[in-house]
Amino acid sequence: MYGKAKVFTLHEEKEVVTEKKKREPAVKKELQSWEETKCPKCKEHNLMKGKTAVGCSDFKNCGFKISFDIFGKKLSDKQLMDLVLKGKTSKLKGFTTHPESLSEGVLSLDENFQILLN
Ligand SMILES: [Zn+2]
Repeated sequence: MYGKAKVFTLHEEKEVVTEKKKREPAVKKELQSWEETKCPKCKEHNLMKGKTAVGCSDFKNCGFKISFDIFGKKLSDKQLMDLVLKGKTSKLKGFTTHPESLSEGVLSLDENFQILLN
């Protein structure tokens, strides 16, 4: 006779898995949109994305425009955004039509907002 006391818990303890909130209020957008980015040239109007380029929404007066295709390389939105916001990109490769035959380098904007490859 061991008199073993078996302890039963009567109510099942269901493990309550606290569901992680699925809705995260601050969903980080990877990139801000072009429409909410100020034109770096006139600093007055926002940008617009067209079919082949991103440019100032007041392009007629401002003239700021960056083609997606630079020296034979198609830039991603991120790379273009770097160029617009920081004035330069990280080092990129794959340029094919640079006049001095550079195939890689950092794109930057000069004081006239022309694109340079260095
Ligand atoms: Zn502008």
